[in-house]
Amino acid sequence: MGAPFEKTMTVVNEFLIPMSQFMRENPMPPFEEYSPLYAASTQNMVDHYVDIEAAMRDETRKVAMFEFGLVPQLFYAFDCAPLCLEFYPGFFAGLTQDVVYEFIESAEEAGVPSDTCSTDRFIIGAALNGELPTNSFFVTSSAPCDGTRIAYPILHKILDCPMLFLDAPFRHDIEAIRYYARQLRDQLIPFLEKATGKKFDIDKFRESVVESNKAYEAMLEIHDAFMLKPAPHPGMLRLVPYTNFIQEAGNPRMTKAVELLRDDVKQRVKEGRTAGPFEEKFRVQWVHVPPTYDRELFGWMEENFGAMVVSQSLPASAVLEPIDTSTLDTMLQGVAWQGLDMTMSLMRLDSERFVGDMLRSYDLYDCDCMFVTQHVGCNSVCGSRGLVKKMCREHDIPVLFIEFDYNDDRVLSKDQMRTQIGQFFETVMV
Ligand code: SF4
Repeated sequence: MGAPFEKTMTVVNEFLIPMSQFMRENPMPPFEEYSPLYAASTQNMVDHYVDIEAAMRDETRKVAMFEFGLVPQLFYAFDCAPLCLEFYPGFFAGLTQDVVYEFIESAEEAGVPSDTCSTDRFIIGAALNGELPTNSFFVTSSAPCDGTRIAYPILHKILDCPMLFLDAPFRHDIEAIRYYARQLRDQLIPFLEKATGKKFDIDKFRESVVESNKAYEAMLEIHDAFMLKPAPHPGMLRLVPYTNFIQEAGNPRMTKAVELLRDDVKQRVKEGRTAGPFEEKFRVQWVHVPPTYDRELFGWMEENFGAMVVSQSLPASAVLEPIDTSTLDTMLQGVAWQGLDMTMSLMRLDSERFVGDMLRSYDLYDCDCMFVTQHVGCNSVCGSRGLVKKMCREHDIPVLFIEFDYNDDRVLSKDQMRTQIGQFFETVMV
């Protein structure tokens, strides 16, 4: 067993820091124009993990481990360093699959079924192997899925830190939001006061929400620009503002990183040069999780088939209003909407709604085909396959279902996945 966060910081020091420097100094064709943006986004990730490591050693701060269903503005109001565990396996997966295998196997050896979501197996394995940060607490909700509901009681037994479990509503209306926001007020705030030893300060919270609103509006501008043909950025960059937002909403450094992308998009649109290095022939809607172990996949699709991922189900779901900062309750309701509707917590809702959202976003971004991933253990998405097929048949949408594990390349390797995608473009999309 290694020291807490040791493997994480090894990845930061041995992969991310050199990568960011290399991208800055050696822009790589054919995406050299975007190199400064990739470098800045990688640097933002470096700073994110460095800050978590610093908080582990700082008696005046805490690391806030949290899951989808929450966004981090409240954690910043208490000077915490947030770590969204849902993104944690993906952080390793694209750079070193060995760590993914190691943690997944530890969880399975401890009895977690191999058909549970790999995100949950990974987190349990990381906890068992002592990788999760110390000087921390853990907050989560009952959404989104069976996998998380299996994982959380196990984590409850393993983790030796303060924990809070919130109840995510199944309904999707203002009453459900009020119900969840009340838990943020009556349970999460007192929990954070106790865990951090600090009094809640509404002005600090408002500051963090105002900051997150700036990033949110920049993110929406980027999303709208992807309706243009050709799209203004490579598909891979489409995901960055969203992943940044969920992990660090309220952090000024993250706002700057998203604004940098927004400014570049705006400039390209203004100058009428949204085209990338390859002609955009097909616009792809990617439904559910992309492979975290193949970060070059979208670029490969662009180069080989002119296929641009312009819509991806989670980032495309960010269609809320910025948070109303007038009172504590309006701010908590805004945070509740974001936590529940911008993350996989959407999966708590019925499949009909999921399929309807898929179709709306397909039309909005004027897509030509749909890729739907069937991730191991993701019962809600895999279970709605029949409904998705029916919808695609009725609307004449070419669709490819990809059965894989989005963190673990042993289920479907990069090459096997690319073969399937290649065959789809060469046979269905001709
Ligand atoms: S990918 Fe599916 S199974 Fe895994 S956490 Fe998300 S909703 Fe749950």
